[in-house]
Amino acid sequence: MRALTHLSDEEELFRSTVAQFARERLAPHVRQMDHAGVFRAELLTEFFELGLMAVDIPEEFGGQGGSFFQTVLAIEELAKVDPSASVIVDVQNTLCNSAIQRWGNEDQKRRYLPRLAKDMVASYALSEAGSGSDAFALATRAIEDGGGYRLSGRKLWITNAAEAGLFLVFATVDALAGYRGITAFLVERGTPGLTVGKKEDKLGIRASSTCEVILDDCRVPHENRLGETGKGYKIAIETLNEGRIGIGAQMTGLAQGALDHALAYAKERKQFGKAIADFQGVQFELAEMAVDVEASRLMVYNAARLRDAGLPFVTEAAMAKYFASQIAERVASRAVEVLGGVGFTKDYPVEKLYRDAKIGRIYEGTSNMQRLTIAKQILGK
Ligand SMILES: Cc1cc2nc3c(=O)[nH]c(=O)nc-3n(C[C@H](O)[C@H](O)[C@H](O)COP(=O)(O)OP(=O)(O)OC[C@H]3O[C@@H](n4cnc5c(N)ncnc54)[C@H](O)[C@@H]3O)c2cc1C
Repeated sequence: MRALTHLSDEEELFRSTVAQFARERLAPHVRQMDHAGVFRAELLTEFFELGLMAVDIPEEFGGQGGSFFQTVLAIEELAKVDPSASVIVDVQNTLCNSAIQRWGNEDQKRRYLPRLAKDMVASYALSEAGSGSDAFALATRAIEDGGGYRLSGRKLWITNAAEAGLFLVFATVDALAGYRGITAFLVERGTPGLTVGKKEDKLGIRASSTCEVILDDCRVPHENRLGETGKGYKIAIETLNEGRIGIGAQMTGLAQGALDHALAYAKERKQFGKAIADFQGVQFELAEMAVDVEASRLMVYNAARLRDAGLPFVTEAAMAKYFASQIAERVASRAVEVLGGVGFTKDYPVEKLYRDAKIGRIYEGTSNMQRLTIAKQILGK
């Protein structure tokens, strides 16, 4: 039996490659990208070249042929340096690539997986202004006509939308049918009727684009319906169940990044004639932060390994996302305090990690939605 955190040679090679990329290529640009609220195009190209946008797409479609667990490792390593970079990779792999691999027919897999592995960014368009936690109250309509469907509605908060070439859009074919009307569609950028709208100016993960996506009588051919009519709710639930593990990994990586900065600073900074790391008060802070990160990582890795083993993982995934997003906020906040005044400035990375942590409790199901899922499972409801 292997320990959860024991990585195979292949996993360790992959992890260290991503870590090196994050340190050498990503880190120098993080502050500027956060300030500008834009992700650098050449880094996205490097994501594709490194295989980070297609970690578990099979090699026959141009992907890395890796595991879901490897996706989680990539998300965690990127988040240590930049949680914005990490969510770009997260949405591509755990939501979009995964939905097409699982529900796409052979033609759809042949048409889209090689492009998603090569240069096509994907977005997952479920939320709307009136339907967030209550996602299945969505109002975007899909009206069937001779050649396919006409989609109309407004999607809000869509990650990667500024860069995306493909949108996985959820719409209803029958508003009166409730969740049973929800159907998934693959809509390419450039399809007449699809416009990417306003980009949000955010507290954190500022370099990750979050935009409105407007569909105005947007014609989508029959062959771009993903899965069965009326089964989009199942695609949404099941992809988000997995996606949550990715967000747990993002938050764990973020917390580890904040802890690493705090450790380095505590050894350097001198007060009262010695390093602040020599004070027991500071040591205890750092020790508690390390415990939080370890517990969070174990929960995330366990959920990911359960998923790869084909075992039930829904409760563990919700717990991991819930806990990891809590500890990310707590650890980043404590890291700011360990750095004292400079921790509060943009000259040191912990200020940004503190802001970035907040999103973990909101997207892919708020903390309350995770608590609901966990409660339902443990109460057998
Ligand atoms: C940066 C960012 C990126 C995002 N990316 C995407 C994306 O790529 N694709 C996508 O489809 N969506 C995306 N979202 C949307 C995100 O998933 C929603 O914001 C989230 O699900 C919450 O929905 P809401 O904002 O409408 O909040 P609401 O649902 O209005 O919730 C507001 C508050 O009420 C609480 N609440 C609501 N219902 C209940 C209940 N039944 N019981 C207890 N408490 C409840 C919530 O927990 C929350 O605290 C993104 C959002 C952000 C901010």
